[in-house]
Amino acid sequence: MDLQSSIAVLKGLGPKSAEKFQKLNIYTIEDLLLYYPFRYEDFKDKSVFELADGEKAVISGTVVTPANVQYYGHKRNRLSFKMKQGEAVISVSFFNQPYLQEKVTVGSRLAVFGKWDALKSAVTGMKILVQASDDLQPVYRLGQGVTQNALVKAVKAAFAVGAHQWLPENLPQVLLDKYRLLGRSQATAAMHFPKDLSQYRQALRRIKFEELFYFQMQLQLLKAANKTEKSGLAVNYNQEAVRQKISQLPFSLTASQKNSLNDILTDMRSGRHMNRLLQGDVGSGKTIIASLAMYATYTAGFQSALMVPTEILAEQHYESLSALFPDLSIAILTSGMKAPVRRTVLSAIASGSVNMIVGTHALIQEGVDYHRLGLVITDEQHRFGVRQRRLFREKGSNPDVLMMTATPIPRTLAITTFGEMDVSTITELPAGRRPILTRWIKHEELENVFSWMKSELKKGAQAYVISPLIEESESLDLKNATDLYEELSAYFAAEAKVALLHGRLKNEEKEAIMQDFKSKRLQILVATTVVEVGVNVPDATIMLIMDADRFGLSQLHQLRGRVGRGSKQSYAVLVANPKTESGKERMKAMTQTTDGFLLAEADLKLRGSGEIFGTRQSGLPEFQVADVIEDFNILEEARRVAALIVSDSHWQQDERWQVIVPNLNQNDSFD
Ligand code: ADP
Ligand code: MG
Repeated sequence: MDLQSSIAVLKGLGPKSAEKFQKLNIYTIEDLLLYYPFRYEDFKDKSVFELADGEKAVISGTVVTPANVQYYGHKRNRLSFKMKQGEAVISVSFFNQPYLQEKVTVGSRLAVFGKWDALKSAVTGMKILVQASDDLQPVYRLGQGVTQNALVKAVKAAFAVGAHQWLPENLPQVLLDKYRLLGRSQATAAMHFPKDLSQYRQALRRIKFEELFYFQMQLQLLKAANKTEKSGLAVNYNQEAVRQKISQLPFSLTASQKNSLNDILTDMRSGRHMNRLLQGDVGSGKTIIASLAMYATYTAGFQSALMVPTEILAEQHYESLSALFPDLSIAILTSGMKAPVRRTVLSAIASGSVNMIVGTHALIQEGVDYHRLGLVITDEQHRFGVRQRRLFREKGSNPDVLMMTATPIPRTLAITTFGEMDVSTITELPAGRRPILTRWIKHEELENVFSWMKSELKKGAQAYVISPLIEESESLDLKNATDLYEELSAYFAAEAKVALLHGRLKNEEKEAIMQDFKSKRLQILVATTVVEVGVNVPDATIMLIMDADRFGLSQLHQLRGRVGRGSKQSYAVLVANPKTESGKERMKAMTQTTDGFLLAEADLKLRGSGEIFGTRQSGLPEFQVADVIEDFNILEEARRVAALIVSDSHWQQDERWQVIVPNLNQNDSFD
């Protein structure tokens, strides 16, 4: 047995359960060890007086009545008893777990983990614990068929055979010493089963450093490789043709759109290699700038390619490019395509009969050969990793690179995370936009919102309804969305056609739904966060977000940005009864401003306040545990060290750094 063995060899696991784990990308023992919990449950005993209504906690007391089981209906029952904690009498109930009865004896002490109802002085139990404990219990993200319990058992089985000690150290000793970092196996153990908060923090610090350090090594090596490359392409585009195209647009470009386009075209014409980030708030009109840059590339006799994170976006950009440039040959390439179609598209791309290509990650796969590729663009840049961007540009002979993002990032942070680059910013929204009116309401007020929606729908409005996000499990997300969809279909039966959009649908199904929504055959689109990035349906004017406090600020801002894209008044309604202070602050911030930069600042402040066990927010490069904003100091330090190592031409020979080399080769080759 070693790290690469299938987890099926572990005690208590067989081929069947091992197969289920594959949904979580866990195949080997190593995968399992590196699958960290995303939060912890605190099983420390709490006094009921400290508990907020609805809070989940461990509540212990002395049992004062025997447990009584009441059956009602098939397989449904409720076990109840009373417990005393100091002066407080607590009613405890468990649903459908009658076998717990034997654990409840009058006079004995018991610890129950459950949800506290302050009004009734009652707890709905989820588990009976032998005793409250000071340990933090790991909570993992789940997949279909894999339970929390199964994951904990599997990880424990791996620890039981000492698997964590097989993990090779992948940071040089000098760095471990310098920053007083835990060793890799020790840190891994503490990530899963921390003794206490301080041990957890130490482990976290080590893993974060590791992630950010490797990330920075890649960036620094990329930068070093760039320096030695021959200079970029000179794209001699036809200025007159581009000017004419701009004059044919149904709108005039904003001043900062013009400036950004100028920056880009100047870079492209020069022989210098372009590496530019185009930032602009949601709805500021980045797509048209990208399209014009692609058009300029075409007039110079080069191909261009645009990479986006989702199939829906690819489809959308494909359509808008086709409408904008009806005379050009434009191709779409996604991984969901059928093999024969894909072959035809690939050969058209390779022969150069195609002028522009839009697609997902499929654009950088093997077997995709371009013909005189002059410009590559990534939309929603933060969704792509360094490696993917590098593969993309290696597809051509050093094509110019344009990256676009709506996540506002301070320049220093942009440079630290994305590497050396120039930045253009679109600072204003197109004229004639009305600010989106945002309201935060409680669940109790939902009825009012629905009846208001009815009248808006009658006037021809269209709405997105975003279903709550349950981080622990994708299948729960789907269940929630489905329930919501059924509820709304029934409620709005007279006014609206409703559809459900979620990540598990086939591409054609997603496309068909988006198409129906665009052409107004649908009025309400119930969706999981698949609509988060980039979707453009200018006539949709209502964005209703359920349990909005579960989303981070940047995500909320992205979601809200799906409306307010035309000249009609748009509305965002956040439905939330937040339990935490930061949840409330986020709701307030959303109602106070629609400015993405201000929200980003608010986000920084809120998250700086250290919600240790809170949900992580998306945006920027994704790491398993590190967060480029929260961990900016570590990121900076990692960058400094990585730059030092890379600039030292002897580092590869120096045995102190040897430990890094095999690891880099494994992930990535920098030849
Ligand atoms: P984002 O920056 O979020 O990608 P889009 O490029 O999708 O924004 O643009 C949002 C909408 O604004 C689109 O419908 C687009 O056609 C429109 N648009 C872009 N630029 C302008 C402009 N200068 N004037 C008016 N509308 C514009
Ligand atoms: Mg966009």
